[in-house]
Amino acid sequence: MLPVIALVGRPNVGKSTLFNRLTKSRDALVADFPGLTRDRHYGHGKVGPRPYLVVDTGGFEPVVKEGILHAMAKQTLQAIDESDLVIFLTDARQGLTPHDHEIAEKLRKSGRPVILAVNKSEGMRLSGAISEFYELGLGEPIAISSAHGEGVKSLLDYALEEV
Ligand code: GDP
Ligand code: MG
Repeated sequence: MLPVIALVGRPNVGKSTLFNRLTKSRDALVADFPGLTRDRHYGHGKVGPRPYLVVDTGGFEPVVKEGILHAMAKQTLQAIDESDLVIFLTDARQGLTPHDHEIAEKLRKSGRPVILAVNKSEGMRLSGAISEFYELGLGEPIAISSAHGEGVKSLLDYALEEV
């Protein structure tokens, strides 16, 4: 069984962009991996030192209807639950938000190892990009740019040491 890495974060932080950069196929066949739910977006990892599966989640996205929000959040919580590690994506341009704090709290409760990534950091001073994210209490934030590929290999090297 390959390690499963879930990409989690609020809307528009760049989860799908990172997913596409990390994977060689957008829709990995999960038939060979019993125990994984089929209706999520899995891919085979190609960036980093060894094979893994990566899951793109959209479940913390706020929607108007309470019921749908609940169902989507449940999907993401399930994805976290069946993952071996979570990459929690935040956005250096928008900075730290209350929603990031809420997600951090859910991740802490999950008991999964969490790697905190600060995306969209291209062209920024790295120390400036990550400084406010220490407040989440999830360890050292790692600055990346999913769109440009910067920091992505180091992120995965680091993540795969944890699983
Ligand atoms: P998701 O909602 O978390 O899946 O986010 P998406 O991957 O759909 O990205 C949301 C927006 O952010 C898109 O317009 C992306 O092009 C943009 N984006 C993603 N990664 C980066 C990045 O590293 N730098 C910048 N500047 N924009 C990015
Ligand atoms: Mg997305």
